[in-house]
Amino acid sequence: MDLCGQKAVLIVTKQVPDTATNVARRRIDLACNLPAGHPGLHQDTQHGEQWGASSGPIATLFRHEDEDA
Ligand SMILES: [Zn+2]
Repeated sequence: MDLCGQKAVLIVTKQVPDTATNVARRRIDLACNLPAGHPGLHQDTQHGEQWGASSGPIATLFRHEDEDA
């Protein structure tokens, strides 16, 4: 069975305390592991992330992570 294989990069950002600055903390490479030609969102089941189709070859996702989370 062929996999979709659409790639995405998830950037996890974190706010620097007492500033409005967000810094990138982690970068996670994602790849869709649903069957090729699947409907709906792309999904990386290994990382539990899903994303919509992108205009470029690699989608970029951002997630904000709080200190207390
Ligand atoms: Zn996909």
